[in-house]
Amino acid sequence: MEEVHIFCPATIANVSCGFDVLGLALDSVGDTMIVRKTEEPGIKISKITGQDLPLTTEKNVAGVAGLALLEKANYKGGFEIEIHKKIKPGSGIGSSAASSAGAVAGMNMLLGNPFTLSELVTFAMQGEKLASNVAHADNVAPALFGGFTLVRSYEPLDVIPIPTPTALYATVIHPQIEIKTADSRKILKNTFSLTQGIKQWGNVGGLVAGLFTNDYELIGRSLEDHIIEPIRSILIPEFANVTQAAKKAGALGAGISGSGPSIFALSEGEQIAKKVADAMRKIYSSTGIDFDIHVSKIATKGVRTIA
Ligand code: ADP
Repeated sequence: MEEVHIFCPATIANVSCGFDVLGLALDSVGDTMIVRKTEEPGIKISKITGQDLPLTTEKNVAGVAGLALLEKANYKGGFEIEIHKKIKPGSGIGSSAASSAGAVAGMNMLLGNPFTLSELVTFAMQGEKLASNVAHADNVAPALFGGFTLVRSYEPLDVIPIPTPTALYATVIHPQIEIKTADSRKILKNTFSLTQGIKQWGNVGGLVAGLFTNDYELIGRSLEDHIIEPIRSILIPEFANVTQAAKKAGALGAGISGSGPSIFALSEGEQIAKKVADAMRKIYSSTGIDFDIHVSKIATKGVRTIA
């Protein structure tokens, strides 16, 4: 195999209570990439469509993640990468993660899968470090594993794939204002109270238990963030109105997607997820801010080949 065409899913990191540890992959929202083997060593980003992003290998997350893999691979040649962006950078649905994960997953396929998914996560994290100064894994882990993932530990890296109830759908609204991950990290505090911690880890446990047992009500009750959301939500216009309207329309719960500005809601079934989209649209239509809305099943697979 000399070339792969792949779908690189958008991802929702944090999922309310799981700052930097929980994430999920979307099934029908994402970028596509073409990765090719070349005789010339190194990595060349040959084409980017859809967004204005750097072609220089060291400035593109796909290049940086790819170089991290190449360093550990027993391979003398190189790779050429085409990126077709559908996910806007700075949207909060893992634009940089889709490219980082796509690059390393595509290269791994072409090399005959020498690396495990966890190893691919460590390479893709180098791309995330370029994008936001922090090598976080909560987007690249679900982008590579699919479904929900829990990063139980960073040192050593321990990614736990979590089963996803089949009727779980996400609705995401992306207001077209840019919040850079690096900026929305700066406003966070480094400390929280024990009371906040108790609520937060109760919810993380509840969410994971709900996902394992297909308990949609428990999933909904657990979608609460007592630490990050109260601070970050001030950067997102209409945040409280959108999450309240989503729940009124039947969503199990709602919160900030990654570092924002996207807001996500989870619902049981596509029909409710679409009603939630209508409710979100109604609120944002009156703001004068442009926005995109996506409704998607949770992906069972991570980066995957396409025809
Ligand atoms: P997101 O959460 O959507 O990934 P970030 O703010 O974390 O947004 O990352 C976007 C940053 O990464 C931007 O500064 C962008 O220029 C940079 N970047 C470099 N290469 C890529 C790429 N292939 N895809 C997306 N963003 C990239």
